[in-house]
Amino acid sequence: MKRRNFIKNASLTALGVTVFGIMDSYSKSTGFFNNLKVNGKRIETRIFELAKFGLDEKGHGTRVAYTKADIEGRAWFIELMKKAGLDPTIDTAGNIIGKRKGKNNSLKPICFGSHIDMVPDGGNYDGTLGSIAALEVMEILNENNMITEHPLELIIFSNEEGGTIGSKSMVGDITTEGLKQKSQSGLSMGEGIKAIGGNPENIQTYIRKKRDIHAWLELHIEQGGILEKENIQIGVVEGIVGIVHWEVTIEGFANHAGATQMNMRQDALLAASKFIIAVNEVITSVKGTQVGTVGKIAVQPGAYNVIPGKVIMGLEIRDLSAEKIEMLFKQIENRAAAIAKESKTKINFARQANESKPALTDKKLQQTIKTTAKALGFTTKLMQSGAGHDTQHIGAIAPAAMIFIPSIGGISHSPKEFSKAVDMENGANVLLQTILSIDKTS
Ligand SMILES: [Zn+2]
Repeated sequence: MKRRNFIKNASLTALGVTVFGIMDSYSKSTGFFNNLKVNGKRIETRIFELAKFGLDEKGHGTRVAYTKADIEGRAWFIELMKKAGLDPTIDTAGNIIGKRKGKNNSLKPICFGSHIDMVPDGGNYDGTLGSIAALEVMEILNENNMITEHPLELIIFSNEEGGTIGSKSMVGDITTEGLKQKSQSGLSMGEGIKAIGGNPENIQTYIRKKRDIHAWLELHIEQGGILEKENIQIGVVEGIVGIVHWEVTIEGFANHAGATQMNMRQDALLAASKFIIAVNEVITSVKGTQVGTVGKIAVQPGAYNVIPGKVIMGLEIRDLSAEKIEMLFKQIENRAAAIAKESKTKINFARQANESKPALTDKKLQQTIKTTAKALGFTTKLMQSGAGHDTQHIGAIAPAAMIFIPSIGGISHSPKEFSKAVDMENGANVLLQTILSIDKTS
């Protein structure tokens, strides 16, 4: 702990003021009313141990959900949960759930965890950090014979990377159609869930409802480069951005590239170029952290000597505010109408069905994480998550929040993904003390 924080905490104690409850066992080493600290070395060792599952001959990680590597990685994790006395079970959606009793088991559980599946050629920290740190919290409590008021649950969600399937199922958001969808493993979602010990036919029987969970916490790597760049230790996640996709079709007229005069053309690709620039201008014209991307494009017919007659593009907008996404899209539509008129083309937008709504995290939990991190001597920043997480679904039924730690170089979903051991330890300590702080709330 930094001296500055110690002085602040000490003076708060002297005044009898505390946000962490009882003052009987105030610790100078942690700044809290307990002496608990996670074992950073054990977290790092386990990150490397889990990374061995799914390594191909080139040393790349391929622990994709429902594959042999995923099944073996899960078995390794389940074994550790058993050793920690968590009596792990697998729910109908293939989520692994380990429970630790509290003093008052009529209270709703405090739940925390993440996922251990990865994208093909993925990294060793995405999801695994939150999972291993959650187990670490349980073990530290065991080793210190500490029983919380609330029961605790460690949850490892199944197939996060293939569409947050486990968490969606837990809140009842998975459809029969969704279960038929093909997963990255080659199996359908339903077949995959069966392969990891779930029960897709009865997936609805394990749905959690509003107020079934006291609070949900997920520690995760940032996956972007903000914390590292600004030299901040802990990110307090304000929310997970909403994502909307549109297929944009521009119709011009395919004609001879030699014989058609420049002023006679209806060039769909030229219109598309102007459209892409317009998207960038609209997105950057207002303050905020919104992002907009044209990430794919197909040109027809696609030849040296033919004026492009048709272009199909993919437009994506992300932001924490659904209204802002709509407002930006309206402006893009207006710009598109002007481009279509000027280029004598037609521009159509087809909104895609796969959109996800912005999910704000719980304000009180944000505050608790921030206060906890500060008391541990860490710098913090309120930030959004540009990537999707299981937390966005659990947030629909329970107060939910996320803790971020720096990703070196902002690289993720890549073998180059890396977070420092000290940052992982810091994040896990924030997770531990946040859980103990929430435990004092009813
Ligand atoms: Zn993740």
